[in-house]
Amino acid sequence: MADHRILFLSKKYLSVLFLPILVLAVGPRPSAAQQAQPRPAEQAQVRTIPVAPGFYVLTGRGTNTGVSVGDDGVILVNAGFAQMQPKVVEAIGKISDKPIRFIINTDWHDPNTSANALMARLGVVIVAHENVRKRLSAERIDPGNTEKKIPPYPKEGLPAVTYSDDVTLHLNDEDVYVFHPANAHSDSDSMVYFPKSNVLNTGDIYYSNNWPLIDLPSNGSVNGVIAGLDRALKIVNADTKVVPGRGPLTTVKELTEYRNMFVTIRDRVVSGIRAGKTLDEILATKPTAEFEEAKKGTGELVITRTGADVVKWFYQDLSKMNR
Ligand SMILES: [Zn+2]
Repeated sequence: MADHRILFLSKKYLSVLFLPILVLAVGPRPSAAQQAQPRPAEQAQVRTIPVAPGFYVLTGRGTNTGVSVGDDGVILVNAGFAQMQPKVVEAIGKISDKPIRFIINTDWHDPNTSANALMARLGVVIVAHENVRKRLSAERIDPGNTEKKIPPYPKEGLPAVTYSDDVTLHLNDEDVYVFHPANAHSDSDSMVYFPKSNVLNTGDIYYSNNWPLIDLPSNGSVNGVIAGLDRALKIVNADTKVVPGRGPLTTVKELTEYRNMFVTIRDRVVSGIRAGKTLDEILATKPTAEFEEAKKGTGELVITRTGADVVKWFYQDLSKMNR
């Protein structure tokens, strides 16, 4: 029995270790033009990346799913798009034979919550900030197309457990710390820190290789992003691995640089507003110039926003308080 178990585990490890290599070997990287749209779900692959003992990241169609595995079961940070759910469940089955117990949604947006109902049918409990439940219960504005309204989710897709400032889950020998950066990427954000694995999942407050979204219709704000990042940076240490909402895994050093970029762009936009400049006049000063190259975006779900889009959000948000 014991031998069988060891063999079983090593097979799992082998598949995890070789999967990224196989995926990389499939073909050349797509060109920038081919990346303009997300890959259709049926073609998209789920890749399993070992991050720390007992912790993995699944990537698929541009999203990152944090996975903690251990004796108590599986905890997910987001579950990706609904269309990818069968492939996500299959990939988890290769790294753990335990049930998926919890999913933490890091905000209400579809790429993070659209698999909720499918997962809830498997008995998974969805945990999120209380505004995720509020927003998914009602018609809401699509932040990617503010003309578009999204209908309410069915009841089974709503988080069953909600919190207001922070909550801790005690599983897999971890004290999983979930906290709410207020009015940051949206008003429904969570960041999730696994202290034993030493992994921070930032949610969409941070994309490692692309411009972020500030969902102003959902009460997102520039200063909320900076305050949220500052709160996270107080919790982590120099060795913490950082799982962004989108893009490759990074480090605390890169997260700090991202926070500083936000402050730099904010200060430039605010000084333009205080000098009485219009949005176009501020854009002409190129407040994002030195960051453009790093934020061009790569990967399966390329977000076509630009530095100019980000400056528009900064201007819209910051002009309220600086005129
Ligand atoms: Zn989001």
